[in-house]
Amino acid sequence: MRTLSPLPPILFLAIYSLSPVAIARSANTVTIKANFPGANIRVVGKKANMVHLAPDWRGDNPWFYWYFEAIAKKPGPVHFSFPEKVIGFKNGAIGPQGPAVSTDLGNTWKWMGTKNVKGSIFRFNFTRSNQRVRFAVTIPYLQSDLDQFLKKNASNPYLQKRTLTKSRKGRIVELLQIGKLRTSVKPVIVTGRHHASETIASFVLEGFLQEAISDSPAAREFRKKYALYAIPFVDKDGVEEGDQGKNRKPYDHNRDYRSKSIYPEIRAIKELDRTMNFRFSLDFHCPTLVMPDHQVMYFVGPKNHPPNNYKNVSAFAGQIKKNLPRNAPVGPLVWLKNASEPAPMNSHYFGFKKDAIMAATIEIPFAPKGKNTEPDSCRAYGKAFLHAWVKTRFHPPTKTN
Ligand SMILES: [Zn+2]
Repeated sequence: MRTLSPLPPILFLAIYSLSPVAIARSANTVTIKANFPGANIRVVGKKANMVHLAPDWRGDNPWFYWYFEAIAKKPGPVHFSFPEKVIGFKNGAIGPQGPAVSTDLGNTWKWMGTKNVKGSIFRFNFTRSNQRVRFAVTIPYLQSDLDQFLKKNASNPYLQKRTLTKSRKGRIVELLQIGKLRTSVKPVIVTGRHHASETIASFVLEGFLQEAISDSPAAREFRKKYALYAIPFVDKDGVEEGDQGKNRKPYDHNRDYRSKSIYPEIRAIKELDRTMNFRFSLDFHCPTLVMPDHQVMYFVGPKNHPPNNYKNVSAFAGQIKKNLPRNAPVGPLVWLKNASEPAPMNSHYFGFKKDAIMAATIEIPFAPKGKNTEPDSCRAYGKAFLHAWVKTRFHPPTKTN
C-alpha cells in the first residue's frame, strides 16, 4: 500500500473551499484503500462526508488515471472530489459517463452515469455499514482479466501462450500466438497497453482474439491467411501497478522504438520482428478522457508508410463501420498523417519497414456519451474488427515504392 501523506492545513482549506457541494450534517468515516492491482490514488484531503482526491503521478507527467476502494463506516452519501486547482490538471478526472463503479471488489463494473456527478465531484450512496466499493476513472483490465481469458480458452487448439520477455520488475509478459506461420500466411502483430491506463482498448483486443480463435467462418478464413501474434500488456508493470503509463519519463513505451530501447518489452518486440518480419501491425490504444475530438474511434499512424497504408486503413475502417453493432462509438475515422521520418512509435516502426502492408494505431474512446463501452460491448467491437479484417482487401506495397 502506498503511504498517503497528510495535507498541510492551508492547502486543505484551499481545497475545501472549492467544493460547491453541501456536506451532510452527519459525518461518516471513509477509508480509502489502494493496496490491490491497478490501484492508483492520492488522498489530498478529507472531512465529514467529502474526500478530496487526485491521480497519483508517481513522478511522471500529469495524466488522469485513478482507481481506489472506499469503505464507508455507515450508510449514506459520500462525495468524492478531484479539485482541479489543487491537482493543476485540466484534462478531466471524470469521464462523460461518470466514474466506473464496482460493488463486488472489482469483479464486475459499470459506468455510474452522470446523475450524481457535478464537475469533478461525484456522489455515491453507500447502502450498508462498512460497504466496500471500488471506483475508477475507467473500467480496469488487469492481469486477472487476461488470466480469465486464458483459462477460459486453455484447451483451444488455435491459441498458444508463450513468454515474450520479463518486465523490468520480473513479471512475465505474455506473447499469444494464433494460427501457424506457413509460407502462404502473413504474420500480423497486435499490441495493447503501451500506455498502461488505456484499459478500454484491452476489452476490444480481447474480443478480437476471442473471435480469431473461434470456429466461425471468418476465424477459419483469417487463420488460413494470417498468423497472429498478440502482446496484450506491453507495459505489464504499469498495468499491474496502476501507473499512468502515458508520457512516462523519460519517455513512454510507445516512444521507445529507437535504436537503443530502454524497456525490455520493446526490445523483445523488435527482436520478435527480426524473426517474424511482420507485414501487419495494429496497436490498440485509448485517447484522452474528455476532449471532444476524442469521443470517437479513430486510426492514427503514418499515412504514406507503407505506401498503401492510407488506402488499406481506410478500407479496413470502412469494413469495421459496416460490422460494428448499434450504439458503438462513432467511427472509426482515419486520421493518418504524412510522415517523412519515422517517429519512435509502434505504428511508425512497423509502417516504415520494407514489405509492410498496414501499420496503424486504433484509438478506442473511454466512454463517449450515449455510446456503449462496457466490457461486453467492447468485446463485440473486437469481434467486428476481426470480421472486418477478413473482408478487407489489403493492397501490398507497389513495386515502384
Ligand atoms: Zn495510448
